[in-house]
Amino acid sequence: MNAIILSVGDELVLGQTVDTNSAWISQQLAAVGCGVLAHVTVADDQAGIERAIRDALPLCDYLIISGGIGPTEDDLTRQALGVVMNQPLELNEHWLRYLEEFFQKRGRSMPPANKIQAMIPRGAKMISNSAGTAAGIDAISGGTRIFVMPGVPKEMKIMFTRDVLPHIAGAGKGAVILSRTLHTFGLGESSVAEKLGDLMNRTRNPSVGTTVANGIVSLRVNARFDSREEAERRLDETADACRVALGDLIFGQNDETLPHVVASLLANPEPETHRARTVSTAESCTGGLLAKMLTDIPGSSRYFKQGWITYSNQSKYERLGVSMEIINIYGAVSENVVESMAANARRLAKSDYALAISGIAGPDGGSATKPVGTVCIALAWADAADKKLSVVEKRTFLFPGDREMIRDRSAKMALTMLRYHLLQTKMPF
Ligand code: AMP
Ligand code: MG
Repeated sequence: MNAIILSVGDELVLGQTVDTNSAWISQQLAAVGCGVLAHVTVADDQAGIERAIRDALPLCDYLIISGGIGPTEDDLTRQALGVVMNQPLELNEHWLRYLEEFFQKRGRSMPPANKIQAMIPRGAKMISNSAGTAAGIDAISGGTRIFVMPGVPKEMKIMFTRDVLPHIAGAGKGAVILSRTLHTFGLGESSVAEKLGDLMNRTRNPSVGTTVANGIVSLRVNARFDSREEAERRLDETADACRVALGDLIFGQNDETLPHVVASLLANPEPETHRARTVSTAESCTGGLLAKMLTDIPGSSRYFKQGWITYSNQSKYERLGVSMEIINIYGAVSENVVESMAANARRLAKSDYALAISGIAGPDGGSATKPVGTVCIALAWADAADKKLSVVEKRTFLFPGDREMIRDRSAKMALTMLRYHLLQTKMPF
């Protein structure tokens, strides 16, 4: 069972209004096991709408159209549908009366232009609209069932839920498409795909695909089965197989973000002391972004102690006690400097952990040995023998991209170093 979703409107093709209807309809269809072959968007142009309907009909079981059934000259969906179905538009007396009453109740007489809203192709059925004047259309052409709904999202959603989805769900006999998204950070999309191997086979059900956004490579697992139970079970199986293939590279799923996951690891009480672990930050090139990410989470006061933005050499020395000698010998962007920043931040904030970042975010300031994107990150934690002393892990990364990307990846990598430490596993990159 599959569908094509057609959205009609000049404002959509001009990019003035984002087509939210198609996204919403797709999600609703997935819940009843109806796959979506395509989202098609056309302007308020009758020939264009006719072409889109004609092209879609042989391909799908359901053609779901929204938009272009208002009362004005640019609303041409019903006319286009009539032409494609080779049926004249006929007046639906019932809906005409409804429209006349609709306006009467508001103390107005119906403008003549609205009469067109009571016209539908011969043989089609009218779908009433409890939220507006544009009635929908329910028609059949060849083997395809066509539903036409208003473009206004609120009206469309009411009509779709009440009068369209039940037909499709009934035909699907309990089928569903369930989805889960698993998130990774640190490796590129192709490296993740390589580790997944056959799991990404395009003929597989549940299917596994990857997407990238802001350095986060996500796996989208879609399971399409005849019953919810089976879809849930098979989705779990495939998600488990992905976890086996990628291990701790997967940091979370669905709405979980890297800061969320680190926050919950920190908030998870230590077995010995029964208290949450605390963290402090010392940032140079990220300008407080890491502290922001850590404090974006409600309840962050449980684990976040203090942050410094020590942008200048002077402030690294004065606020964090990094020796000028180290800065002069190794440079502000060096593992020696972030090591000292992290250890001193941990001591000054009296936190369990401290993260420090110093790097070259660009566009200027790079050199042959330290090009733009060079970022040093350090994580300090308590020495087992003397908790006042710090053990420091420090790394140098070379991040691609512009200033914003480099700063974002730096903060996320710092969180990732802490995450792996809390998980007591080695970072795989
Ligand atoms: P229409 O039914 O074509 O008169 O559309 C009425 C209004 O609904 C438009 O002006 C848009 O603001 C909105 N609209 C129409 N189609 C969509 C869509 N696909 N996604 C989001 N909004 C839409
Ligand atoms: Mg329109």
